[in-house]
Amino acid sequence: MDEALKTDIFHPERAIDSIADFIADPVQAAEFPQTILRFRNDRAARTVGLDSLDDAQWIAHFGRFNPLPDAQPAPLALRYHGHQFRAYNPDLGDGRGFLFAQMREAASSGGRLLDLGTKGSGLTPWSRTADGRLTLKGGVREILATEMLEALGVTTSRTFSIIETGEDLVRGDEPSPTRSAVMVRLSHGHIRIGSFQRLAYHDQTEEIARLIDYCLRHLLTLEPGEVPALTLLNAVVERTADLAASYMVAGFVHGVLNSDNIAITGESFDYGPWRFTPRWEPGFTAAYFDQTGLYAFARQAEAIHWDVAQLAQSLVSHAEAEALVDILRRYPAMYEARLIERFLWRLGLTAPDGDTARTFVIAAVEALRGSDVLIDRFFFDWRRGDHDEARYPGAVWEKARSALGALSQQPGALDHPYWQSDSPCSMHIDEVEAIWAPIAERDDWSALHSKVEAIRAMGQAHGSVPGQPRASRGE
Ligand code: AMP
Ligand code: MG
Repeated sequence: MDEALKTDIFHPERAIDSIADFIADPVQAAEFPQTILRFRNDRAARTVGLDSLDDAQWIAHFGRFNPLPDAQPAPLALRYHGHQFRAYNPDLGDGRGFLFAQMREAASSGGRLLDLGTKGSGLTPWSRTADGRLTLKGGVREILATEMLEALGVTTSRTFSIIETGEDLVRGDEPSPTRSAVMVRLSHGHIRIGSFQRLAYHDQTEEIARLIDYCLRHLLTLEPGEVPALTLLNAVVERTADLAASYMVAGFVHGVLNSDNIAITGESFDYGPWRFTPRWEPGFTAAYFDQTGLYAFARQAEAIHWDVAQLAQSLVSHAEAEALVDILRRYPAMYEARLIERFLWRLGLTAPDGDTARTFVIAAVEALRGSDVLIDRFFFDWRRGDHDEARYPGAVWEKARSALGALSQQPGALDHPYWQSDSPCSMHIDEVEAIWAPIAERDDWSALHSKVEAIRAMGQAHGSVPGQPRASRGE
């Protein structure tokens, strides 16, 4: 055992063993020509007792994948199917990643089961014709997305480690050859809607029951109730409606909301061609290959609801169809309620009642939709009370301003020094490229590190979202 891990806060678990026979295949990590540590997330590592590893130990575990003490002995590639842009694909699965280890997070961070999963760790039975690799730029983008989302209150996987691996990769969406990396992410489970779809496709009814049980017991910590499939769907509806709402309030476009990318916990994960939309532009699309705008900014709630309907479809052998449909119908109202709550949260406001809150948020979204104002600027200004007519002119903004009168500021809403900055912290595509350029040109990582620091300060300024499983900030 690593000396550094003789601590009582690293608690490995092997919950996955109970379903591994039908959900996973043992695989081996690739042997990389180099392993250069580029990013270690000590804040996240603290929540699971892994921050005491020195860099050499870190690389041994998260670059060469030597098993963690008492954790699972071999990596497991997970099996799943899914709808990609509404077309069913039975050839998916972890094609460039695996589940590396499971552990319990610190009680102060929620005490839930956590997975360490990888991206770019080599070929698996599900790699199809692809290389099993991740580009370094993809890894850097994943850091930026996850840090930013966490700071804006989105329940997200966290980027735990990025290690550069010294290979040349060829990609259509990056100047090639391009550098390679292996990423480790920390998340509350890797079971996704597509995991159920695959079992339903193969008529594995008994395994569906076992997977429902696993999700309720280990990922959602819910009593199964009279009909476990309904308990599960209900929780997924609640959490994914909140996920969709959280994307809107963050101004985030995930880009690939396929059913294999929607986790049962509703935790956001798997960041590819994501973007933050500068303005509240409903049709703003992240992925160049999303030609119809299926996953455009304002269609995300509908897209995720559609994915959840595929989960319901996969559960028909375990519950009455009518009861499943009734639960699905709760999604739009839940989405609206969570959107309103989160919108006020980002503004540091409270409302005396639901109607007042709703009236304000509708007016504000209406105004934003037709305006050139940047989303981050709007939230920043309005939280600080900088919303006079000179800055926000016209009838639509006037309507939002007058609806605002009925709301009040949360105590301490402006306490953090972040609120005295000149401008809000953003993550638009030009800045992503500006952070990547010095890394690509001269291995200068300073812009990335200072951005992560700035994002974390913004996260502290916002505090955590009420009613959410606590984000594991490791503070
Ligand atoms: P994604 O769009 O990242 O969710 O990936 C969709 C599917 O393609 C999953 O089965 C991935 O594992 C697989 N995949 C994506 N990129 C690669 C790659 N470079 N090598 C192998 N499989 C990949
Ligand atoms: Mg995926």
